[in-house]
Amino acid sequence: MAFKAEYIWIDGTEPTPLMRSKTRIMPDGSTEFPIWGFDGSSTNQAPGANSDCVLRPVYDCADPIRGGNDRLVLCEVLLPDMTPHPTNTRATCAEVAEKFASEEAWFGIEQEYTLFEADGQQPLGFPEGGFPGPQGPYYCGVGTDLIFGREISEVHASACIDAGIGIAGTNAEVMPGQWEFQVGPLGPLEVSDQLWVSRWLLHRVAEDYEVVVSIDPKPVRGDWNGAGCHTNYSTKAMRESYQPIIDACEALGKNIQEHIQNYGSGNENRLTGLHETQSINEFSYGVSDRGASIRIPWQVEVDQKGYLEDRRPASNMDPYLVTRLLIQTTCG
Ligand code: ADP
Ligand code: MN
Ligand code: MN
Ligand code: MN
Repeated sequence: MAFKAEYIWIDGTEPTPLMRSKTRIMPDGSTEFPIWGFDGSSTNQAPGANSDCVLRPVYDCADPIRGGNDRLVLCEVLLPDMTPHPTNTRATCAEVAEKFASEEAWFGIEQEYTLFEADGQQPLGFPEGGFPGPQGPYYCGVGTDLIFGREISEVHASACIDAGIGIAGTNAEVMPGQWEFQVGPLGPLEVSDQLWVSRWLLHRVAEDYEVVVSIDPKPVRGDWNGAGCHTNYSTKAMRESYQPIIDACEALGKNIQEHIQNYGSGNENRLTGLHETQSINEFSYGVSDRGASIRIPWQVEVDQKGYLEDRRPASNMDPYLVTRLLIQTTCG
């Protein structure tokens, strides 16, 4: 029987891209996903007079929404001459991943997000025109008065499992209506492809509840936690001994600006030095320190090996950029 392939890609919306997708009906028994195209003038990826952009499949998985034989097909965007489109950050990530493949880099990414009512203005759990009780009881909480949107988090996690995405866990976050899931540990391209598809699935699942998913790093101004994408990172050497972890922290301290500039838009509203962040203008690393730019988990110091956590990436970061830069700065 014919089946549906949902071709998914990342558009050119600035400063934070949106995800797009369209459905291709595949003939019975097809196993290869052909190159396809779209109108780049509708996605900020091409001028109207020369609007064709190319979709090249890079990762596919079961479609847990439609079920059956249907598939999700993540694509990279190419120009008609088959070179990477300027918005295609995956191509450079792939080059760097290949160049440093012998380092065996792994990433575990903690995606935080905030759920809003259908108007996109009212965070779930915020009373109309006002504010809920202050932060404290919501993180990893339970109960009707503290938890808003759990079903979305649950359905999304199950969808990721059914798709074969390497989701590692979920938790309710510090602000009401704010949640997290983690993907990894996986290699740079694998974690990035799967994080993008899991983001698409999150938006798609939330549609069924008429809820809007925001990955704005500071969705509510004031005394409310922002949303990040902490990126846990190790190389083979870091998983075997401690000094390479310190060396990586030192190397990151010498390339601060390039990372911050590529860690998501609006991050200056989140990295204030408050709410478990380091200021965007400072760099520090430390064991167990949630106010540092880079945290070395307590257990990693005990074991004298493991990984580091870069706490700076914003919730709207592009994992192709973040994983590439971490490898380049620490292995280059
Ligand atoms: P936090 O305590 O900061 O909330 P989480 O448990 O949410 O941490 O996320 C930690 C992430 O780190 C998980 O996704 C996990 O898979 C990942 N991780 C564990 N070990 C490694 C490693 N050696 N290299 C990279 N990532 C790792
Ligand atoms: Mn976490
Ligand atoms: Mn978190
Ligand atoms: Mn974390």
